[in-house]
Amino acid sequence: MLKKDNEYSKTMYLPKTALHPYKIPAENYRAKTTDMLYKGQARLREGDTRLLRILHDGPPYANGDIHMGHVLNKIVKDIWNRWHLLRGSRVIYIPGWDCHGLPIENKVMQIIQEELAASDSSSAESSLSPQEIRKRAEAYARSQIEAQKKEFRTLGIMADWDKGIYTTLDHDYQIRQLMVFRDMVAKGLIYRSHRPVHYSPSSHTALAEAELEHHDNHVSHAVHVAFDLDLNSPNMSPSLRELLARRPTRLLVWTTTPWTLTANMGIAVNSDMDYAVYSSASDSSGPLTIIAVSRESELAKLGIAADRLGQFKGSDLVDSTYRPLFASFLAQSGKKFNSLPIVPSSHVSPDSGTGLVHCAPAHGQEDYHLFQSLGMLGPSAAENMLCHVDSQGQYSNSVEEVIGESGAQRLVGKDVLDLGSREVVAMLKEIGALVKIGRHKHSYPYDWRTHQPVIMIATSQWFANLDKIKRDTMDAIETTLFIPPQSKNRLSAFVQSRSEWCISRQRVWGVPIPSLHNVLTGEAVLNNTSLTHIISVLDKHGIDYWWDGPVAAFVPPALRGKMDDAQVEETWRKGADTMDVWFDSGTSWTLLDEFWDTSKPGQRTRRWGSHVCVEGSDQHRGWFQSQLLTAVATRTSVLKQAPYDKLVTHGMVLDEKGRKMSKSVGNVISPADVLSDSTYGGVEGLRLWAASTDITKDVHVGPTSLSQAGQLVKKYRNTLKYMMGCLKDRRPAERIPAEKLRLIDRYVLHQLCVFEKIAFEGYRSFGYQTVVAAMSKFINTTISSLYLDINKDSMYADKLDSFDRKCTLTVFEILLDKMNVVMAPILPHISEEIHDRLNNSDGVYTPKPSVFTVGWNFTIKNANERKWLDPQAERDMDILLRIRAQVFDRLEKARRDRHIKSPLEADAIIIIPENATSKAAEVVRREAQYLKALFVVSDVRFEMTEHENKDWRCINSVDIPGCPHPIGVCVVPARMEKCPRCWTFSRSPEETVCKRCDEALIER
Ligand SMILES: [Zn+2]
Repeated sequence: MLKKDNEYSKTMYLPKTALHPYKIPAENYRAKTTDMLYKGQARLREGDTRLLRILHDGPPYANGDIHMGHVLNKIVKDIWNRWHLLRGSRVIYIPGWDCHGLPIENKVMQIIQEELAASDSSSAESSLSPQEIRKRAEAYARSQIEAQKKEFRTLGIMADWDKGIYTTLDHDYQIRQLMVFRDMVAKGLIYRSHRPVHYSPSSHTALAEAELEHHDNHVSHAVHVAFDLDLNSPNMSPSLRELLARRPTRLLVWTTTPWTLTANMGIAVNSDMDYAVYSSASDSSGPLTIIAVSRESELAKLGIAADRLGQFKGSDLVDSTYRPLFASFLAQSGKKFNSLPIVPSSHVSPDSGTGLVHCAPAHGQEDYHLFQSLGMLGPSAAENMLCHVDSQGQYSNSVEEVIGESGAQRLVGKDVLDLGSREVVAMLKEIGALVKIGRHKHSYPYDWRTHQPVIMIATSQWFANLDKIKRDTMDAIETTLFIPPQSKNRLSAFVQSRSEWCISRQRVWGVPIPSLHNVLTGEAVLNNTSLTHIISVLDKHGIDYWWDGPVAAFVPPALRGKMDDAQVEETWRKGADTMDVWFDSGTSWTLLDEFWDTSKPGQRTRRWGSHVCVEGSDQHRGWFQSQLLTAVATRTSVLKQAPYDKLVTHGMVLDEKGRKMSKSVGNVISPADVLSDSTYGGVEGLRLWAASTDITKDVHVGPTSLSQAGQLVKKYRNTLKYMMGCLKDRRPAERIPAEKLRLIDRYVLHQLCVFEKIAFEGYRSFGYQTVVAAMSKFINTTISSLYLDINKDSMYADKLDSFDRKCTLTVFEILLDKMNVVMAPILPHISEEIHDRLNNSDGVYTPKPSVFTVGWNFTIKNANERKWLDPQAERDMDILLRIRAQVFDRLEKARRDRHIKSPLEADAIIIIPENATSKAAEVVRREAQYLKALFVVSDVRFEMTEHENKDWRCINSVDIPGCPHPIGVCVVPARMEKCPRCWTFSRSPEETVCKRCDEALIER
């Protein structure tokens, strides 16, 4: 029966699948593979702590839309969780949010200001009660959590997003945090101190080291100033007194912070350094100048031509005194003044400044420690330290004590970093103390949130003593596994360099530091007893009660004595400070206690905390550290254990050129935009992009890397979809056993095992990029351009029960099952979709349980599947693939020379000596019947030497390592006629279709 060509096409077996041609219906599988899956596995595997795998989520800040950094962070975590789920673990993952602190408080204040401005109300910021601010801040934080939660869900992150989350404003969370704080107080680790701390005028609060960023190009106005030495100093060394001969003498000092000069309390010199007295070369009767000999060259730079009169040791200066810098202003106001001391300090360097150092203990740690060690601050540092700066960073009224009434009028209310500083310089000029002013570029600390410079001022703050727990903390770091390994040094260095942690903040949006202050004596009470009492009150009435409730409710019986409520109100007040937000998030490990069985004592295994934390490199000074410190401080254990077994640090996400993303540069890539652009492959494209990055380095993101990921996702799904179509979404009726499969099948299964092994190792070590690279190679090289290509013809044209078809379908099914599981942690939506559809029976669709319930049986460990690993198949196939490459090369030449349009118009001839007994000869002869499919030509023949005489030929030799004789390939015109059904040139002139098609047509 002769049919028209187009009628034959209807008799071909074309792939058919229910899968959508191009759209990945991720949202159809969203709930199944996130919330439902998480809840199901947590319930199913409850109770067995051996199965427990806890990835503890570092809480992002509840403010603003999520950015690409969040995307990377959450997806990297999700891949780990899903991998462990496939491996049979019970995964605990509780997403958290960090809710307190300045950015939210500032945001709320801004909203309130705008509302007030809009309503023409005259009431100002000051009229807002802490309660009102806290109420608004909480509502704002909760709204932000909901918005971010929605975005995280879109990324397919597996969690119980409704009930299984934590926030630092949960009541229970705050109570646990206060209990950690109480334990630290009980251990004597918390103390109050009045001393210089980093203070942010722009945020109106003290800052911890971790909240500073250092700007290298900060410019300060540096001044050289002259202080008048007190010639009547009773303790001046006789030799110096003789040298000066009662001539007026000036001490030359250099400082980059002229605004701190009002708080000058002394000048430091190095006792062991050499100093000298200089006389002006032009004015021999003018005042003398003292500076360090090593800094003599400074004089010329200052325009002072001088002769050295004599030299002496710094120790000769110690205990001499000098007139306060602004003494003349005080004198104008009719006030008296006291001379100030010259003090010894080994920190004074011969390499910078003048060797004479202005000391303002209120404004510098070093000065503070110096004066403290010299016993010059006395028991009440707060009263003895000069400090004239208020919480706004402006000069306060107290400056009058050193500068008199008229001077104070010029300074009070001015910013010390701006107008105040300028005014001080102007005043120095007026009194003749200013020798020189210049711009000085140096590294200077800034507030990491407002990016404004900070200052140091003396305030009363609560500190945690880190020296006391340093050794235990370092021990705990030793027991922790770090990925990448070098990140251990970073955390160690941060911990080593810190002695204390300033934990109090002067803001209202936070967890209170519930101290009690005696109004009459100034005493601050914060101890185990007071905290236990206060925590029980707050637990009952809520945290806000600290602001709402009467002080009488919080004063414990022991402090109250016989006072009635009215007396208590008169005697005690509640502390107004809140805790550093790093203390909030740092105590998050306490929420994991419920998952551990602490009833069984044991020293070897973990019984608290988490298995792993995964965060960006900025958390070495943030959450990684604050978790570690609060845990080591309060969890005593025979093992010095960190609250985590493993710390994984990922890089920051930068733009394609490696720049930080910022609105002002205009290079921000928003996750929402990526998801809405179809070229990037939707959520699976984004997930694959995250997995394809080397997380141990900073990550560059841009259209190039995103489209590559998008293309690979589409290629992957299309490949799987094609195999699904060949299977008609059904499992094959008959599976061919591994030992009976063709060489190409065994080769592909071997490569599948290789891919699986790489993926397994990649998941285990957070090297997800190796999983993606191996998948890309396997899909593109082994599956798409080899296996699918050579089996296409038999799949379309063979009769249904052909052996080749059965082999291919057997392999397709194995590939689908295995690849689907291996890629599921990265591409859960696609895996759910394939799994769901593949398990259809007889075309009737019923939804299936999640692919993650199938589990990942590692092939090597499975007796049935182990035989897929077949290195011999790989070696044999390597020979054939080398010949194939040469055949393809010759076919391409024939096409270029316009002999053929399609490779099927050609036959291939393999030229091999008849008596050849090499491995290569053995393999090509054994596989002879499969070669035409492998080379995608119409026929393959063997010849001993090249002699066939055709009108054209393309010939070449093949290089096979270790083969003792030459092998050649030759491409010639096909000998047979074209089959109208399958288009191969395999029909004899008398046949209507080729033999294979004839068989296939009989069953149609
Ligand atoms: Zn045919």
